[in-house]
Amino acid sequence: MKPNRKAIPKATEHQVREQCGQACANPACRKWNTATHELHHIDGDRSRSVIENLILMCANCHSEEGQGIISTAQVMTWKRMAEFGYLPPPAGHEPVSRTTMRDNHGVIADHVENLTIKQTKDKSGKSVPLPGTVGAHPDMRDYANYLSKRYIDWRKKGIAMGIDKRRFSPASAQGILCEGFGSQSSLIVPQTHFHKWVTQAQGKIDATVWGKINPHRNYHTWEEHLAQRHG
Ligand SMILES: [Zn+2]
Repeated sequence: MKPNRKAIPKATEHQVREQCGQACANPACRKWNTATHELHHIDGDRSRSVIENLILMCANCHSEEGQGIISTAQVMTWKRMAEFGYLPPPAGHEPVSRTTMRDNHGVIADHVENLTIKQTKDKSGKSVPLPGTVGAHPDMRDYANYLSKRYIDWRKKGIAMGIDKRRFSPASAQGILCEGFGSQSSLIVPQTHFHKWVTQAQGKIDATVWGKINPHRNYHTWEEHLAQRHG
């Protein structure tokens, strides 16, 4: 199909096929039929036949890519998934445990939006931030909430894609992000520890399965947050 297919060294082709698990790299397809599958040059340059630029696709998905139905950005994400070993098993070869996990995660996902952060309340039940804490500083509070939500969203995304296999309850996110800070909520972290907390939270977002393969930045910085709010 591709004029320069022959230019791909056999050893490279073998590596690419191995990396993709001998199946179409489209996670929604994963058709397993090596005889009819094709190697696709991700950046469109057919002379650049290096492993980084090649991915295995079935004839159908390859044709959809050619028509622009499947974007280059999508293919790049699949390539990163292949590199990290995150592609789902080939179609028809899926172990039972994965199906079970997906069902569990579906249940968890329904509760994600209900995340609430416990704080001190006054007589009318309104949350009162403790003086000197992140919660008492509007900019710090908003940025902490932003990073917390991002962490949850990134975990959710990996789980929805079937590539994050660790159990996760959104209610545990605050505890995870505050690890080592002696608190269960970022809002009661002392303002003096805010930057340390931010560095840890950003690191944990980068370390999520989606954070590692996301082709874009995982979050905006504290400085950008301030610039957005105060110009
Ligand atoms: Zn396919």
